[in-house]
Amino acid sequence: MSSERDVDVVVIGAGQAGLSAAYHLARLGFPPRRGFVVLDADAAPGGAWQHRWSSLTVATTHRVHELPGLPFEPASDDLPAAEAVPAYFAEYERRFALPVERPVRVTAVRRDGEGRFRVESDRGTWRAGGLVNATGTWTRPFVPHYPGQETFRGRQLHTVGYRGAAEFAGRSVVVVGGGASAVQLLGELATVARTTWVTRRPPVWREGPFGEEQGRAAVARVAEAVRAGRMPGSVVGATGLVVTPWVRRALDAGVLTRLPVFDRITPDGVAWDDGRSVPADVILWATGFRAAVGHLAPLRLRTRDGVVPVDGTTAVEEPRLQLVGYGPSASTIGANRAGRTAAVVLRRLLDDDAGAAT
Ligand code: FAD
Repeated sequence: MSSERDVDVVVIGAGQAGLSAAYHLARLGFPPRRGFVVLDADAAPGGAWQHRWSSLTVATTHRVHELPGLPFEPASDDLPAAEAVPAYFAEYERRFALPVERPVRVTAVRRDGEGRFRVESDRGTWRAGGLVNATGTWTRPFVPHYPGQETFRGRQLHTVGYRGAAEFAGRSVVVVGGGASAVQLLGELATVARTTWVTRRPPVWREGPFGEEQGRAAVARVAEAVRAGRMPGSVVGATGLVVTPWVRRALDAGVLTRLPVFDRITPDGVAWDDGRSVPADVILWATGFRAAVGHLAPLRLRTRDGVVPVDGTTAVEEPRLQLVGYGPSASTIGANRAGRTAAVVLRRLLDDDAGAAT
């Protein structure tokens, strides 16, 4: 497949954000395949959910919001999210006959010199008047650097490589990171391994549900940072960590006792400048992700922080580029809304173009 195809809109990525955008593009009258196409790097439906560890069940996620137009009704809340969500996405793609092409990895997006985008991939090239980028973060795990890291004789892995606690039985594991994933994995690992938890800032625990008002304020802070091209802080930094019943048990058992991050890594563990050290067989980096937007580099939109500034979903310097599941919309509910906004904006911009041309 090396031909060049012409469409109105290319959507890159078929996770929650890309599927929501696709659904709304179809509803706004873009015909599937001729009008728009969704290119997805994975071999199967499910976005990043298909790659998550199996102990993350539907019940232990924060909540997976259903996509527009189809209820998410897994047979059991105890099913791994990595099974239930991909099955739901597969049904969604079928039900709405969404034109998803996979596996297609987009390698570069360029301007074609005629006011359109050239979307290059490992399966050929598409040209489009509008672009929805919905590539998530899963393919760009972030691991900070600490002195001595390369001398460590044990195993280092990021949460993307975590498959379950069993393989760490009897080991000493240092878990780095202050987010919900770190807390969940500590709860699992502590049942079979010796764990040490380190975070940059002391965790803020939250009992009870998060108010709508607080939610809006947290999202607004992220939106403001991304509009200005700055790296947004984590949403958990603003929302706090939820104390679920098992988190309460883990707190009471002392499993969630946190130390400040070490100053360096030694061949056998981690050490602080005040003379303390902890031996470790494994360092588990639960240190988050960055947006997977490397393929947009030829457009030269990224700031020094590596952020493409967006206003809502619209790239500030390139309105025909919409970024969804990005910054403030990096959640299942945010991705839903962003997909709709992106489709509406592109419908209007491309209609304006067509009007101007006649
Ligand atoms: P993804 O699901 O990552 O989909 C991106 C898609 O783009 C993938 O299919 C990938 O193959 C494709 N892609 C990437 N690069 C390319 C390329 N170059 N070319 C072509 N295709 C490409 N949010 C919640 O609301 N509730 C939760 O409970 C929750 N739990 C979470 C738990 C974990 C462990 C993590 C890491 C995140 C969680 N989130 C949760 C966040 C949530 O998963 C995401 O914000 C949302 O699902 C992202 O959807 P997405 O479509 O943006 O990205």
